[in-house]
Amino acid sequence: MSVDAPLRHPGASADCPVCGGLGLEIVRDKARLIATPCRCRLDVCPACEDRAVVIDPDGVMRACTCARVARRARRFDEAGLPGRYGAATLASLADTEPANATAASRVREWAESWTAHDPPPGLVLYGPVGRGKTHFVVAAARTLLLTRGARVRFLEFTHLIADLKAAFDRGEGASSLLDGLGEIDVLVLDELGKGRLTEFEDQMLDDLISRRYNAGLPILATTNYDPREPTGQRTANLARPGGPQPTLGDRVGDRVFSRLREMCRFYPLGGEDDLRTTSRKARW
Ligand SMILES: [Zn+2]
Ligand SMILES: [Zn+2]
Repeated sequence: MSVDAPLRHPGASADCPVCGGLGLEIVRDKARLIATPCRCRLDVCPACEDRAVVIDPDGVMRACTCARVARRARRFDEAGLPGRYGAATLASLADTEPANATAASRVREWAESWTAHDPPPGLVLYGPVGRGKTHFVVAAARTLLLTRGARVRFLEFTHLIADLKAAFDRGEGASSLLDGLGEIDVLVLDELGKGRLTEFEDQMLDDLISRRYNAGLPILATTNYDPREPTGQRTANLARPGGPQPTLGDRVGDRVFSRLREMCRFYPLGGEDDLRTTSRKARW
């Protein structure tokens, strides 16, 4: 498989330690990460003088590389990566604790193997709160945005549900939002299965997962729930703290869980590959 040559901004320094020549620096803007021109970059593009087009030696007009960089920056901003994960890069995964090394390798391989026309199966990272699951998926998303020009959307699951409900309540229906999320190259769902999970929420999630399943498009998800077989119990029984805990299947429902198992590979953070889930090859 050939990987595209790295994109370089004509006005950026090729050996810049911040941007590596892409000409974009990732900074925090309130709750989100955004891409801004790197400090190494000249104010005006030396190739096109900011006209965004250049004339080839054979007289053909074409888009300047700086315009492709600008498009990557726009897509980065639209992705909505959370602002507190500015340090999440694939390189940072090398520093993860030994118990997360397998998941780190899988996430790195996933990001490096991704192509728009033949995307690999998605990933579900699961484990207790505080293990760095979100850091891992943001690192993968950031890489695809900056090095491949992918269209990515990051959503915390409960925010997605709130957005869908708001669209529904405004009488717009949820379909325009679902259409967009159903088609984007990579959808990142953080904290899958969290929340109240009303019938409306179940239905919206089923609709969204079905769209991506049918389109053959990957999901990167994190969840605090174990992907064991459903127990039939949706919420933890507070009267029995040591009793059985709800699983991911309990939380998202049989149909969504079954699709996720076909679309994704599951890796725990804080341990080795879970053979029960990863031996079952995702079908793409
Ligand atoms: Zn730079
Ligand atoms: Zn230019």
